[in-house]
Amino acid sequence: MPKKYDVIIVGAGAAGLFCAYKAAQRGRSVLLIEKNPKIGEKIRISGGGRCNFTNLYAQPENYISQNPHFCKSALSCFSPHNFIALVKKHGILFHEKNVHKDVHGQLFCDDSSQQIIEMLVALVRQNGGEILVDCEIKSIEKPDEFILQTSNSEFICTSLVIATGGLSIPKMGASDFGFRIAKQFGIDIITPEPALVPLKLDGKDLEFCQSLSGVSIDSVVNCNGVSFRENILFTHRGLSGPAILQISSYWNKGDAITINLLPENDVLELLKAKQNGKSQLSTVLSKLFPKRFVGLWLERFPCEKILAECKKIELEEIADHLHNFTLIPSDSEGYAKAEVTRGGINTNELSSKTMESKKVKGLYFIGEVVDVTGWLGGYNFQWAWASGNSAGMYV
Ligand SMILES: Cc1cc2nc3c(=O)[nH]c(=O)nc-3n(C[C@H](O)[C@H](O)[C@H](O)COP(=O)(O)OP(=O)(O)OC[C@H]3O[C@@H](n4cnc5c(N)ncnc54)[C@H](O)[C@@H]3O)c2cc1C
Repeated sequence: MPKKYDVIIVGAGAAGLFCAYKAAQRGRSVLLIEKNPKIGEKIRISGGGRCNFTNLYAQPENYISQNPHFCKSALSCFSPHNFIALVKKHGILFHEKNVHKDVHGQLFCDDSSQQIIEMLVALVRQNGGEILVDCEIKSIEKPDEFILQTSNSEFICTSLVIATGGLSIPKMGASDFGFRIAKQFGIDIITPEPALVPLKLDGKDLEFCQSLSGVSIDSVVNCNGVSFRENILFTHRGLSGPAILQISSYWNKGDAITINLLPENDVLELLKAKQNGKSQLSTVLSKLFPKRFVGLWLERFPCEKILAECKKIELEEIADHLHNFTLIPSDSEGYAKAEVTRGGINTNELSSKTMESKKVKGLYFIGEVVDVTGWLGGYNFQWAWASGNSAGMYV
């Protein structure tokens, strides 16, 4: 005999666990199915093992979607403070980490991300929800209710929630399951792309980055009219660091990125002020950048004269190179290195209040599988909790 539940949730990650807790709390019979032997693996590895579980200032503006309004309802119904209250209630100590003087609000566990997983599991189980791991779903049909054939047994449910996440980090079990189910039920998808991902360069730009591998510089990075101020990091493949990860979510193949390497300074004014003695560009730059960078920068943009001999147009050119260093990445490092997937279930297909499909009654999509992608900094977990909450209140 197939076992019957009110709600089956597929994927025991952040969104699935939270939705299971909320639905079980309302007295629904809930089964959470996970194909991996372990649940919440991305929570475990997140934030360097300390889980940046929310951002105090999460707003709809911090999310990328074809419909930027879609996330508003969920985010306003479940705010960072709602999640913080749960974390406090469970005695989990946390702190705000100011990763950059202009970037605030990232909350991390003091101890370990495992505490967040344990809290979520406890909330599901205390409310009577069941969790089944190591269970592969073979097929889903919907003659009336949903019928799931799995490696474990057959299950029936009235509400089915897909919380299988995005495609990033395939070696941790990321799958296209959510997109396949969408396709099966005729639900549109915005083409998924790796996001929050390092960018690759080639040719002389790659050589430049490789020679500087490990060097990081506080910069403003701009692409397609969006900019982020944080560190960039030169790597063996190109560029990484928080400012690059952020901008990668707005970058498409073929686009240029522009880097202001000295956002605190007006380089032209600095150079003009040094035109009275025998100052050289290298002397000015060595006060502002790591030594290794100065040498390679001057190989790339040589300046033979002392500054006093430079014409205004030459100084302007030097300043422009530093304020608008332009590169065209050849590609991103792909899903293997991406923190998230942008794109996913087209939000036009879903109710923004409940996350239910407009076409298929009882079918819900939550978390990263939906075309809502947060910035770096705790925003993606906040979306997982908020969208899990929205569905959990209705399933
Ligand atoms: C290295 C790294 C660090 C990160 N750090 C942070 C951070 O500090 N803060 C932040 O906000 N975000 C962070 N993120 C992003 C964040 O982890 C995700 O956005 C978030 O986990 C998405 O939640 P989700 O529940 O939608 O998907 P996931 O957490 O990916 O969960 C999906 C679950 O579904 C399961 N699944 C997949 N297919 C099937 C199937 N066919 N059957 C059953 N189960 C299935 C998966 O095994 C997984 O357990 C990080 C991501 C990475 C990769």
